[in-house]
Amino acid sequence: MAILPIVYYSHPVLHKKADPVTLFDSALKTLIQDMYETMYHANGVGLAAPQVAIAKRIAVIDISEQRNKPFCIINPEILVKEGNELMEAGCLSVPGTYDKVPRALKVTVRAQNESGEFFEITGEGLLSHCLQHEIDHLEGKLYIDYLSPLKRRLLIKKMQKHLRREK
Ligand SMILES: [Zn+2]
Repeated sequence: MAILPIVYYSHPVLHKKADPVTLFDSALKTLIQDMYETMYHANGVGLAAPQVAIAKRIAVIDISEQRNKPFCIINPEILVKEGNELMEAGCLSVPGTYDKVPRALKVTVRAQNESGEFFEITGEGLLSHCLQHEIDHLEGKLYIDYLSPLKRRLLIKKMQKHLRREK
């Protein structure tokens, strides 16, 4: 397993639509294991493949407190959205920033697992938020894209400061 480098705003891979996965081979399984490790290492609850510079429709999620219930969603699509709420968001690709974005309270998603089998998952609260956030990544959309241009500029400045401190 390997920790993959995470790319930040405004890397082009974060701003384009990712391609569907068609081959469910051992390389895909290795990539998913690496994405789990990268997500845990970065203390994230989710990670999408574009965030590690891979333009494929893959994301991993673990919202459990013990950090031991990871799962992946491949080629996901949202089937049902219910309710609306402003939810606090942050993103490993826009580190050091947070803001509230509009999200559905509850979503049902259809996706494939690492063997290519289809499954459905319904999430509320944090899981709902996380599913929408990761699926947005696969569409080339970041949470800051929901904000006004002024707010977005402020958060990007904040991120740049944060990254300078990290060095
Ligand atoms: Zn993100």
